[in-house]
Amino acid sequence: MYTSNSIEARKSNKGPVIAIDGPAGAGKSTVAKAVARIFGLAYVSTGLVYRALTLKAIRLGVDVQEAEFIVTLAENTEVAVVPDGGECRVLLDGEDVTAELTCPEVGACVSQVAKIPKVRAALLDIQRAIANRGCVVMDGRDIGTVVVPDADVKIFLVADLDERVRRRVIQARERGYDVVEETIIREIMNRDKIDSGRKVAPLKPAPDSITIDTTGKTPEETIMEVAGVIYEILSDNGIKNASGGKGDTPCFT
Ligand code: C5P
Repeated sequence: MYTSNSIEARKSNKGPVIAIDGPAGAGKSTVAKAVARIFGLAYVSTGLVYRALTLKAIRLGVDVQEAEFIVTLAENTEVAVVPDGGECRVLLDGEDVTAELTCPEVGACVSQVAKIPKVRAALLDIQRAIANRGCVVMDGRDIGTVVVPDADVKIFLVADLDERVRRRVIQARERGYDVVEETIIREIMNRDKIDSGRKVAPLKPAPDSITIDTTGKTPEETIMEVAGVIYEILSDNGIKNASGGKGDTPCFT
């Protein structure tokens, strides 16, 4: 449960929480990692938590449509996210599975797993525990709406489908996966539909978030735009990070 106590605990803590939400391929992870570096904060991708559980289901040969079984799995799985030098590593029942989480097999069915309400409930505490420590940039789908509704800054990134597909194709090929563009289009459209249409914590901007369209912008342009928004909001509210607001020393490792 996200109680007012936990909100207070974080507010009295040492540094800001920045929420960056948006659909697949909108540029969240690139931007979130960069602004984390700029402001001296940790970076956590919450999608990795859902990906880790999905990987476990795939390894066990469980059909991800078997909601009840997936819930039992979620309740009996330990997922830990460890910020690590500007990236983050994920331990699944103690095993470092980070390298496997971006494989196409996981990408193809992670949204089926993430749409199950009891799965989301089971994985919420891990994410809120990270937020409660402060000094972190978290990216995902529901960070600003559900996980950290009192985040200090909420950004919602969007981009045209064509551009999101193009980015994902390049990213997958850079990681060594032999992907076909049509498959990526189908996967992104399918994930958009499931993530936006699910009953619990659907992908949508928080009312107090700032939406930034990254279409046609270079990563550097978007990073500078987002960093500018964050800087403005943090300074308007007198919020500094634990390193004294210099942004040069990660305060959460
Ligand atoms: O961000 P990433 O592409 O790794 O997320 C994978 C999937 O995990 C998303 O498509 C979504 O289904 C789920 N997810 C979510 N809520 C989050 C982060 C990710 O439902 N906060």
